[in-house]
Amino acid sequence: MKGYANNILYINLSSGKTKTEPLGKEMARNFLGGAGFGIKMITDHQRPTTDAFDPENPIVYSCGTFSGMMVAGSGSKWGVAAKSPQSQGLGEAYSTGFFGAELRRAGYDIVMVTGKAERPSYIYLEDDSVQILDANHLWGKHNWDTEDTIKSDLGDPGVRVASIGPAGENLVRFSAIINDRLRAAGRTGMGAVMGSKNLKAVAVRGFNDVEVADVDGFKEFALEIYEKSKGPATEKYRLLGTAANVLTLNKQAAMPTRNWQDAVFENADKISGEALNEMHVEKIQGCDSCGMRCEHVGVVREGPFKGAIGRVEYEPSYAFGSCTGVDRPDAIIRAVQLSDLYGTDALSTGVVVAFAMEAYEKGIISKKDTGGIELEFGNAEGMCDMIEKIALREDIGDLLAEGVERAAAKLGKGAEKFAMHIKGVEMTGYDVRGLKTCALGYAVSRRGADHQRHGAYGPDLKGQVDRFKAEKGRGQLVIDGEDLYSVIDSLIICKFSRGIWDYDSYAKMYTLATGIPMTAEEMRRCGERISNLGKIYNLREGIGRERDTLPIRCMTEPIKSGIAKGSLVTREELDLLLDDYYETRGWSEDGIPSDAKLKELGLEDYAEHLRGLKRTDTKRKSGKKKTTKKMTKKD
Ligand code: SF4
Repeated sequence: MKGYANNILYINLSSGKTKTEPLGKEMARNFLGGAGFGIKMITDHQRPTTDAFDPENPIVYSCGTFSGMMVAGSGSKWGVAAKSPQSQGLGEAYSTGFFGAELRRAGYDIVMVTGKAERPSYIYLEDDSVQILDANHLWGKHNWDTEDTIKSDLGDPGVRVASIGPAGENLVRFSAIINDRLRAAGRTGMGAVMGSKNLKAVAVRGFNDVEVADVDGFKEFALEIYEKSKGPATEKYRLLGTAANVLTLNKQAAMPTRNWQDAVFENADKISGEALNEMHVEKIQGCDSCGMRCEHVGVVREGPFKGAIGRVEYEPSYAFGSCTGVDRPDAIIRAVQLSDLYGTDALSTGVVVAFAMEAYEKGIISKKDTGGIELEFGNAEGMCDMIEKIALREDIGDLLAEGVERAAAKLGKGAEKFAMHIKGVEMTGYDVRGLKTCALGYAVSRRGADHQRHGAYGPDLKGQVDRFKAEKGRGQLVIDGEDLYSVIDSLIICKFSRGIWDYDSYAKMYTLATGIPMTAEEMRRCGERISNLGKIYNLREGIGRERDTLPIRCMTEPIKSGIAKGSLVTREELDLLLDDYYETRGWSEDGIPSDAKLKELGLEDYAEHLRGLKRTDTKRKSGKKKTTKKMTKKD
């Protein structure tokens, strides 16, 4: 097989043993790379219901199909998957930079790590050489120091490093893995899984060629895509980056504000992409092989955060901006930098701090808990101080490091009503109360609260549907997005370039690169297969219909202002949307794939993973009182 390195590397940190196995054509063709490989590997190799911090919980690093190739927005991507310490379900995260390309050049498609090292360690891969090296001198260091020290120790600035900071070491449940300084595999706590294994970093250097099947055809098509990637479809990313969304979403009353107490931030103009660009952006750069170059690097030139540097995107502008009520771009840049250095998921971190701010304002926690910080909304310095306390588990930071779901359960006093999470993973920055298709996408998202599993805000915000209405048919829209994103996250192609691709072009590029024939329909089917396998994994781990839900606030407190004023998602609306989605998927009303669906997707071997789960196939009649069946396992 061309394109792929044709190698899976297994490393057991407990025994120090390593082995390789061939990738296999069936694995490549059915699961593509990235997300597909990660989900397949943890489903096959993880013992059911293993705790996320159990040494036997495998963590899987994978290349996208095109890692190491000159495919615009794809050449450097990589993914990571493991049982999530946040949801205790599917954990997956994707990053870019240069690490993915180096991993493929070193000769691996997948690296799976199990066990726990006796002492802090890091893995160094250099082509065929696999070493588990001492990381005692790195433990406690932040990510940038770690990267610099490893490069210096190995005497090679070309080494690429994916590492964890103190947050991962301290098992902060929403810890990220950071690579190439500013890039994060942020969501679902993959950094904490590394920490639980005493694994500080994976460093990689590769000198192999990456061969494609049809050199001329591939080159011609890759150049065509590259030229398109510099066209109008990606202009906003090149000019302002995703921070361009701040004013757009705020105008649509979809920018969650002060821990989702509202959806319009009165000072959005101060933290907009335009404002950041004018005042702070010093450099625009791109990942390996990318012509879009969306990376707007902000620098703080004066004031208390002077010298801070961070990548400015929409999501941190929401999490560290509107969600915490902070209207200072300098503080947002500093907060992003702290997340990169300590190694926390910036998104979850901002939402956790916003949760703490609301708890403080409601008198549930006090200055005694915060170590003297007056943690009101809008307190920029307090926000930054809290990030460090969370990463180091100091004061109330120790509880907040568990994430909002667990922290709310411990605090009580009604805190669960404003804990903004789905499946234990904190909400990303689209206020779903006035975006009903998107609300469904969030509720069923396999990795918890997320817009990146489906992109279902698109039909709502583009006016393709009535965004304020819950109705049948939304299930199909979410499914279309999910299966497409399963393909995108497996190939792995930057989502910012999705406007220049379609299933035909994905399939064409795949065949040119690998030599494996693939049609557009087969590619779509790969997406459906990967989406279904993700669901099977979650069901097996005990995550059923009751976890496909929304935060209590989204179902009980309407948006207070703007064009979405009065909007929320009622329990009845959510049930209607879920029923429609499950039925359209070919799943039971408990969300369990039918045997026919498994067979259709070549997943019949996984039927045994679902054995013992309830399969309530009787359809609910509309208007009838619904009883939600809790999914249970037979003893
Ligand atoms: Fe990287 Fe941005 Fe290019 Fe995507 S668009 S590959 S994130 S530089």
